[in-house]
Amino acid sequence: MGIESRYARVLEEVARACEDAGRRPQDVRVVAVSKTVGLSGVQAALEAGAHDFGENRPDSLLPKAQAFPHAAWHFIGNIQSRRIGDIVASSQLVHSLYQEGHALKINEVAMRLGKVQDVLLEVNVSGEQSKSGVAPSEAGELVRICSSLRYVRLRGLMTMAPQGDQRVARECFEGLARLLNELKCSMDPARAAFFNELSMGMSEDWREAVFA
Ligand SMILES: *Cc1c(COP(=O)(O)O)cnc(C)c1O
Repeated sequence: MGIESRYARVLEEVARACEDAGRRPQDVRVVAVSKTVGLSGVQAALEAGAHDFGENRPDSLLPKAQAFPHAAWHFIGNIQSRRIGDIVASSQLVHSLYQEGHALKINEVAMRLGKVQDVLLEVNVSGEQSKSGVAPSEAGELVRICSSLRYVRLRGLMTMAPQGDQRVARECFEGLARLLNELKCSMDPARAAFFNELSMGMSEDWREAVFA
C-alpha cells in the first residue's frame, strides 16, 4: 500500500475513534514521525496530505525543516543544551521541555531569532525510571518559571505511556489531561488561553490518547 492510502486510512481510523469517543476529529492532530525516512519520504507524505511532522534528532530535523519550511515541524526528542539553537530555529513546537536551564536558553535563543517558541512540558506521569520528564508534583514550579519568559509560550503537556498495556496507557493519558486542567487554573488568563495541547500516543496507543 502506498503512503497516500496508508495516510488516508490513518485519518479514517482517527475519525472513527473520535466518533466513538464523542470528540470532534478536528480537535485531534496527527503528527507523522518522519525520523525513519528521508526527504523523499517527507515529500511523499506531504503529497498524501500530511502537514505535521515529528523528529527526535536535531541533525535530521534541520535539513528536513529547511527543505520543507511550510510544513509544521515538531521536536519530540531529548533536548541537549548545545543543540537548542538548531531546535528553536527549526521547530514550530518543542514537545520535550522539562529542565529550567533549557527553558531559559530557549527563551534567549528565541529572542535572538525574533520568535516566540511554543513548547510543551514533558511530564513523567507513569513514574518509570527510564522515562524523562518532570514529576507531576514539580510541573507547577516549571510552569511558573516559563510564565515569566517572554519568548517561551507554554502550549500544554506531553507524556509517553508505559508500553504493552492499553489500560495503563489510558490511565497515564488521563492523568496528563487532569494535570493540564489543574495547571491551567494556576496560570494568568492570558497564558492559560494558549495552554490547551496534549501530546500523547504513538502508533501502538494513540487510540487511548483519543479517549483520555
Ligand atoms: C519514534 C518516536 C515516536 C513514534 O513512535 P511510533 O511507535 O513509530 O509511532 C513518538 N515519539 C517519540 C519521542 C519518538 O522518538
